[in-house]
Amino acid sequence: MRQFFFFVFLLFLISCEQGAKKDTNAASRPEYVLLIHGGAGYGTRADMSPEREKAYHDILECVLDTGSAILSRGGSSLDAVEAAIRIMENSPMFNAGKGAVFTEQGCNELDASIMDGRDLNAGAVAGVRSIRNPISAAREVMTGSKHVLLIGEGAEKFAAAQGIEMVDPSYFYTERRWRSLQRIRKKQEESYREKSGKFSTVGAVALDQQGNLAAGTSTGGMTNKMAGRVGDSPVIGAGTYADNETCAVSATGHGEYFIRHVVAYDISALMKYKGWGLEKAANHVINKKLKSRKAGGGVIALDNNGMMAATFNTTSMIRAWVTSDGEKKIFLYEE
Ligand code: ASP
Repeated sequence: MRQFFFFVFLLFLISCEQGAKKDTNAASRPEYVLLIHGGAGYGTRADMSPEREKAYHDILECVLDTGSAILSRGGSSLDAVEAAIRIMENSPMFNAGKGAVFTEQGCNELDASIMDGRDLNAGAVAGVRSIRNPISAAREVMTGSKHVLLIGEGAEKFAAAQGIEMVDPSYFYTERRWRSLQRIRKKQEESYREKSGKFSTVGAVALDQQGNLAAGTSTGGMTNKMAGRVGDSPVIGAGTYADNETCAVSATGHGEYFIRHVVAYDISALMKYKGWGLEKAANHVINKKLKSRKAGGGVIALDNNGMMAATFNTTSMIRAWVTSDGEKKIFLYEE
């Protein structure tokens, strides 16, 4: 009998402990979080001029302020993700939207995707040449069509019909990206991976006050890519994933490897089926699986308790975040 009472007492203690854990999590969870990236592989501080460094700081700060203004007034994580990515797409400093890299044929073909962690709803566009903000077109695919991924002309026609801003393809011409293409063309002997050099895709993940996660990614792809090549960024599960039960992920890196390893979903699946924490899951996929294949890149990821991970196996990844606790950080290098 004494043993029975001891057993009941033990159960009582365990349930108190679990309750306390839950409460601590709920209490310590920030009301909202926005985490963004501007691509992986910029090199070290020595590779960037102080002017360029300041310009990155300024724009990233503007992205964080815009996103936190949305989230602090109770706006959705989807709105914050879209707004954050639009600002980076409008800047020539990132390989997305205005600053997109060139294909081997000297065109710009853009990819983007967005995902809602509430219901796994998702939208994406690939290979588009005249949509100013592909992330907004991706969101329209999610909410205004019965499909997940639209490509090329079909995606453009759909976006135009939805009132998305269209531009002449020449809008995406930037001298800097054109010169990168010429440099790569001259070094024909280098492998595709070496040629691609840097990854400066953009992405955002957010947790809103309602506890909903969202993720989005936008890119011009990889310099000198074949016409029609699509990377991981618009592929749900590879470059972007969000599930309220686990996490939101946006990736940057050598897309072919991120597709083969289903990177963003793999991180979510490790959490769901193995019970791993966010950091452990992201680290395993980026620093073990991808690294063993010599595949460069990284992810930003956010779990449903507001825990963040920014994990990369390249020399650096531009990343920044803001939380309802007043934390605001910007990192351009490894640090
Ligand atoms: N992941 C992108 C792609 O392969 C490139 C990047 O991250 O910069 O298209």
